[in-house]
Amino acid sequence: MIVTRFAPSPNGPLHLGHAYSAIVAHDLARDAGGRFLLRIEDIDGARSRPELADNFRRDLEWLGLEWEEVPAQSTRLDSYEAAARRLMEEGLLYRCTCTRAEIQALEPRMGAEGLVYPGTCRGERFDPSRPSAMRLDMEAAMARAGEIVWEDADAGAVIADPREFGDVVLVRKDAPASYHLAATLDDAADGVSLVTRGMDLFFASHIHRVLQQLLNLPVPRWHHHQLLLDDDGRKLAKSRNSGEGRLGLSELRIAGEDGTALADRLRMGQIPCGITLSRYPHGAS
Ligand code: GLU
Ligand code: ZN
Repeated sequence: MIVTRFAPSPNGPLHLGHAYSAIVAHDLARDAGGRFLLRIEDIDGARSRPELADNFRRDLEWLGLEWEEVPAQSTRLDSYEAAARRLMEEGLLYRCTCTRAEIQALEPRMGAEGLVYPGTCRGERFDPSRPSAMRLDMEAAMARAGEIVWEDADAGAVIADPREFGDVVLVRKDAPASYHLAATLDDAADGVSLVTRGMDLFFASHIHRVLQQLLNLPVPRWHHHQLLLDDDGRKLAKSRNSGEGRLGLSELRIAGEDGTALADRLRMGQIPCGITLSRYPHGAS
């Protein structure tokens, strides 16, 4: 059975890009007689706003989607802690007290997804009096995982190689997990068999595949969909594009737009208001 999910974070309103993402996941499940799940990714305690999650449900209903809601991330903190403990005991995590400014000051290498952590705190070189995050020792993790592949709907079999992204954070200073750890554990717990998300998160699937191997989790397949780009060729962002009326789902809904008609247009690739649908990073700046 195909199980997909839409997993928005309630730190800003949904925009057309989210609608597209939800529709892709919904339709892939529906067309296969499977299940489509909604999971609120509210790990970010300080930035999460519960009232936004209510708006998300209204927006999805307005688009004509049906879903099953699974527990929000804020109710699953124990599972994140248990997984982090296990990786720590296996010597695959280490504490890191570095601030962003400290990392930048070392002029680290730029990877495909931004600055690559230079490994300052690796080998117990951290100051216990300062707040710490936990990073995955990626070389050690890869040595443990061995050669593994993951299956993408378009790209086919991909060799998992997250070394490019360095020692990613799995436990944040301010939360018991990072996106990578929480989403990987949740997808497994929710029985998600086809992880669908935008091309901009293609890189994350390398990391998640390695985490599945380290934590003995079931391995799903992946589908990375195209992205909606604004008139400047940039990916739609919550900060720029929702809350402006023309792209925010709640605004369109409250203004009386027909949500199911909009969903059908998105399905046909008819994207309104100067927005284009594109593979990332082609066409994006
Ligand atoms: N909570 C993530 C977001 O809002 C979900 C990304 C994913 O689908 O893995 O971007
Ligand atoms: Zn550090």
